[in-house]
Amino acid sequence: MQNRNEMKLEFDARSINEGFARMAVAAFITGENPTLDEISDIKTAVSEAVTNAIIHGYDNPEQKVMLTCRIEGKKIEIIVEDKGKGIADVKMAMEPFYTTKPELERSGMGFAFMEAFMDEVQVTSTVGEGTRVVMQKKLGA
Ligand code: ATP
Ligand code: MG
Repeated sequence: MQNRNEMKLEFDARSINEGFARMAVAAFITGENPTLDEISDIKTAVSEAVTNAIIHGYDNPEQKVMLTCRIEGKKIEIIVEDKGKGIADVKMAMEPFYTTKPELERSGMGFAFMEAFMDEVQVTSTVGEGTRVVMQKKLGA
């Protein structure tokens, strides 16, 4: 039987939780014996998605970011969700260098990093309802 495992976390939309989310995913997948490069790639992707939910999705830090991590055989699936502002044009938002917060010294590279470091990145979003980022990576590929 193929190994399966899943965890879910819900935490405040506070910047301090970016590191927590990244470490939690890294700890959860340790049993799959990922390489250091794979861990680093996944941590970066999780950070980018969680940072976006915190910075762009919400204004109120008491709102919650939801993180799911699922292991299916060699495949790692990570879902980062917020119930915040949403994105009007996902395709445009995912273009490298596109940012709506240049004043915060954002470079607009978050989605580009997620796509570079993961095998698949799917974003669904509705204005006023929130954003869901689903990312997959196969270990040992
Ligand atoms: P960087 O990630 O380089 O610091 P950035 O966050 O602006 O800059 P991306 O992560 O690529 O760049 O995101 C691009 C744009 O998509 C953001 O500027 C924002 O307008 C929008 N966006 C991304 N995630 C969300 C989200 N969870 N909720 C609302 N808007 C989002
Ligand atoms: Mg970003």
